[in-house]
Amino acid sequence: MTYDFILLGAGAAGFSLALALVQSPLRDRRILIVDREAKNRNDRTWCFWTDQPSPLDAICYRVWDRIRFQTSRMDLCLPLAPYRYQMIRGIDFYRHARQTLAEFPNVQFTLGSVESVADGSDAAEVVVNGETQRAAWVFDSRLGPGDIQPNPLRYNYIKQHFTGWEIETADAAFDPESVTLFDLRTPQQNRVCFFYILPFSAHRALVEYTLFSPEVLLPDEYERQLKAYIGGRLGLRDYQVIEKEMGVIPMTDHPFPRRLGQRILATGTRGGRVKPSTGYAFARIHRDSRAIVESLLRADHPFDIPLDSRRHQMHDRLMLDVMAHEAGRVEYILEAIFAHNPIWRALRFLDDQTAPWEDLRLMSSVPPWPFLRAIWRVVRRLSKGA
Ligand SMILES: Cc1cc2nc3c(=O)[nH]c(=O)nc-3n(C[C@H](O)[C@H](O)[C@H](O)COP(=O)(O)OP(=O)(O)OC[C@H]3O[C@@H](n4cnc5c(N)ncnc54)[C@H](O)[C@@H]3O)c2cc1C
Repeated sequence: MTYDFILLGAGAAGFSLALALVQSPLRDRRILIVDREAKNRNDRTWCFWTDQPSPLDAICYRVWDRIRFQTSRMDLCLPLAPYRYQMIRGIDFYRHARQTLAEFPNVQFTLGSVESVADGSDAAEVVVNGETQRAAWVFDSRLGPGDIQPNPLRYNYIKQHFTGWEIETADAAFDPESVTLFDLRTPQQNRVCFFYILPFSAHRALVEYTLFSPEVLLPDEYERQLKAYIGGRLGLRDYQVIEKEMGVIPMTDHPFPRRLGQRILATGTRGGRVKPSTGYAFARIHRDSRAIVESLLRADHPFDIPLDSRRHQMHDRLMLDVMAHEAGRVEYILEAIFAHNPIWRALRFLDDQTAPWEDLRLMSSVPPWPFLRAIWRVVRRLSKGA
């Protein structure tokens, strides 16, 4: 046996699991991490809310204590306590992971594309750069185009797609204390679209045009919308674009099997860690890494991890269905959630942490008809689809 663990992909899931392993009693196991990229680019920023301290606090780029929620009818600025909204830049996370793992001679990296993965009863085999590596357990976070076969008769498939500009302005233009989570003051036109602003100072912010819809736009369209919003809504003429970010995150209730074989576990996006109705995954991935390590310690295999709660899966499925079929209603639903609930309840709900009574309180605050129609559509689809 060459390795105890092989981690395919050194993104959020791969590095998160590697860090959890070396911070546990399994720290001296032989670990191989494989990625086709050197991970030396700032290819994304991760944001998430939390009320807990974490070893990643040290690499947070920014932390905010307030969020802003805007529509044409309301403008709310909500203190987040006991939560905070944190941002970690991809490059800082990759660097931190590499530096931490460099202290462990039992952890090795291979730069290369995974050519094949073969399951077995005692070990799995991975071919990289023409060489075969064996391990007791393989954790796979690569998601290729053929990895899920869409079944639109049964599930909804939409995407969270966005382009962001980090801009610097000549005049003070932003409130550095509050993140604009949603600025929905833009025509919805049968798709959910909004602007998201992460202010780094009064003069600098990342402004993102984000949509939840089945198809992505042409690159020019995101840029046209960003220009119109920055010049129009924000009233800024004198600014420079310093950096750009773009991304596409799958939002679907399609099941992502965790167990890919006797010796292979899917992690990250591939393991269904993206929350279907929000696209947030980073905090869920870190919780999952801790659960995998606990399973290895307790059961001597990685599969004894908590299943997603059926109740929260149903919330996701209904919300996704409303987004896919009644996108124009989402603005009203979000207004009701943010205006009629304490922010901690909304965040706990969006994080699958709510108890049933909290769900009832939240659901009773939102317009019922879109959800009743969604229940009807979902039940019909689930009973019909193969
Ligand atoms: C631009 C962007 C911004 C996001 N922002 C947020 C956010 O703010 N908050 C949040 O919670 N979530 C966010 N997400 C969603 C989610 O957190 C990220 O997508 C996260 O990186 C998913 O982790 P992962 O490990 O599954 O995938 P990745 O981080 O993409 O890692 C997969 C790795 O596998 C490697 N790989 C793929 N195929 C192969 C192969 N054949 N051989 C070798 N290596 C391979 C890739 O190079 C990559 O490094 C964002 C996603 C994107 C795209």
